[in-house]
Amino acid sequence: MPLLFTTSWDDGNVLDVRIAEMLERYDLRGTFYVLPHEGGESLRNETIRALAEKHEIGAHTLRHRNLPDLPREEMESEIRGSKEWVQHITGKSCTMFCYPRGFVSTAAKHAIAQAGFAGARTTVPLQFGTDDPYMLPTTLQVYPFPMRPRFSQWWHPLDPLGPLRAKWRRLRALGTPIAACKGWLPLAKWLLVYAVQTEQPFFHLWGHAKEIERYGMWEQLEALLVFAKTQDIAPATNAEFIAALRPPSAL
Ligand SMILES: [Zn+2]
Repeated sequence: MPLLFTTSWDDGNVLDVRIAEMLERYDLRGTFYVLPHEGGESLRNETIRALAEKHEIGAHTLRHRNLPDLPREEMESEIRGSKEWVQHITGKSCTMFCYPRGFVSTAAKHAIAQAGFAGARTTVPLQFGTDDPYMLPTTLQVYPFPMRPRFSQWWHPLDPLGPLRAKWRRLRALGTPIAACKGWLPLAKWLLVYAVQTEQPFFHLWGHAKEIERYGMWEQLEALLVFAKTQDIAPATNAEFIAALRPPSAL
């Protein structure tokens, strides 16, 4: 059975169009978790509608609020409101939700299910499947690795390998060779081959167009997509993965 190759992209930036065009060049699919247009670089409704023709549009609240911090009524209206807003723009059923900043709570999961979503995406990294549709994890974010791309906190210069350190335990458990940890693209390719060879349910790539631009990662992203097409994969949106849900294979 081919590996499901699913991708998701957060926050609805104008550069999402560049991601969509790149995915289409390789017959791949994206799930775009968008927010209402608030000027600047955020996606306009007509662009979201155009994206919905070839890709999936998911909900991501209306104001990018941390769900566990909100009073129940406000949380429920952010969840329901974003579903209705997406459906109004695309004219299609919106069945996927994405937790802003990855903040999850039991009450939020419950409200998302109650609102009629079939699943919800987290930011949990280095995973290849799940048995909980409301805790859909990810495999790899398009984000600099293994070094910090820049020092934005006073302590960052003391911990330049923070991105590697955060993933180290899990990478070790997967048996990741050191050579695969020398950069983002080698790691992404290794994880993809690992997922294929161990017959995992999916490889889930995700990111923010804004960060791909900020850290100059467009070429690396495209190189991964070219490589992915040489593997035994089947493109899927997040919703299509949820529909075919099966737990990860034993490590
Ligand atoms: Zn977000």
